[in-house]
Amino acid sequence: MRGLSVHRFLSDGRIAAFEPLVGKGAIKNAIMQVLDRTRSVHDDGAERTYEALCEDVVVLLERERYNALLPVINATGIMLHTNLGRAPIAASAFDAMRAAGSGYSNLEYDLEHGERGSRYARARNVLTEVTGAPDAMVVNNCAAAVLLILDTFAKGREVIVSRSQLIEVGGGFRLPDVLERSGAQLVEVGATNKVYLHDFEHALSPRTALMLRSHPSNYRITGFTHEVEAPELVALGKRAGIPVVEDLGSGALVDLADYGLPHERTVQEAIADGLDLVTFSGDKVLGGPQAGIIAGKPHLMSRLRNNPLIRALRVDKLTLAALIETMRLYLTPQGHERIPFFLMLRATLDQLNERAERYCDSIDGAKAIGTTAYVGGGSLPENGIASIAVSVLPQWGAAEAAQRLRCASTPIVARVEKDRLLFDLRTIAPHEDAQVIAAIQSIL
Ligand SMILES: *Cc1c(COP(=O)(O)O)cnc(C)c1O
Repeated sequence: MRGLSVHRFLSDGRIAAFEPLVGKGAIKNAIMQVLDRTRSVHDDGAERTYEALCEDVVVLLERERYNALLPVINATGIMLHTNLGRAPIAASAFDAMRAAGSGYSNLEYDLEHGERGSRYARARNVLTEVTGAPDAMVVNNCAAAVLLILDTFAKGREVIVSRSQLIEVGGGFRLPDVLERSGAQLVEVGATNKVYLHDFEHALSPRTALMLRSHPSNYRITGFTHEVEAPELVALGKRAGIPVVEDLGSGALVDLADYGLPHERTVQEAIADGLDLVTFSGDKVLGGPQAGIIAGKPHLMSRLRNNPLIRALRVDKLTLAALIETMRLYLTPQGHERIPFFLMLRATLDQLNERAERYCDSIDGAKAIGTTAYVGGGSLPENGIASIAVSVLPQWGAAEAAQRLRCASTPIVARVEKDRLLFDLRTIAPHEDAQVIAAIQSIL
């Protein structure tokens, strides 16, 4: 292919359009790959036109684009969609990440004394202030938090858990498996629907290391049930000298009932109940970055800090920066309402209807319908919140239209309901409306 310079490909608009998406390096690689392929078949005289080669490069770049982590517009109505990255973080949390990541920081440096400082002191201050716990620490995610606790206290010993709480939560986190990995022995008590304090009491032995409560997250047992309340278990733990741990999972720090959802047990309530340690995720209803937070009693926390595993489970500076800023939002009045999850919850039906009108005015055949949005992320599975969706009927099939939208330059993930496509406005940010409208127009 003499006369075909890399430069000609690079300056071709169809290829150059990929630069902001995949970067110059990936574009050059794709061109070289296509040219090399051509050279290797050159001997049999199979010359290909520039046009055909250009198409090959575009195909490679399309593929490359889906390998990158792309921003996606979530039109599913599932607010903490695990497959779409769970909680979007607040703008100020992102600013904090950028500030911490684009240069050096005082991550482990004490500026006042000019010596080594603690990586975690700042996070601990703000976490204890928000949760009311005397001590707190951060690890990579909530699964790591549970693992660290079991490894520290329960290796080769027994952990008593209610049978009703042995569940698998989002992302394949199964308490019995984590228990086994940590070398702890699971002692299940009660029946699936009924557990009493005396079940725990009878299971206590000299080998008992912990009693563990776990939030049933995405699972509910209803009907003829009995659970042991946290304060009862805490009292038993005190009498027996056994720490009681609660894995809260979702990490609500405010009352979700204020936002039209059922009340979800908050971290503060668990701490007030006297739990020795509680664990929760940073990127579920808390609305921060992926992280696992452990809050509780200082004498147990110091044993966790001395576990060598802590080094392997530690969080990076970007996570710490975003988490600290997110927690600061909780410390200012209504500050947490700047977190995208709470912005979504706060949107009124009037506001959503008003936005839906704009969609319907610009899109032929679109109509606004009432629907239900869900929290997702394994939290509050049964209870949705009323929402408004824009519904369109693509002539050539909803599934294919949905696929085209997923492959748009900013992918949009919509809901397919029979032959219609639904766009739930609660999870679409208002600033994304114009882009979504244009994308729907282009596929109809
Ligand atoms: C989600 C969840 C976890 C796992 O949290 P990650 O932060 O994803 O590791 C553990 N326990 C409970 C109860 C959960 O809901």
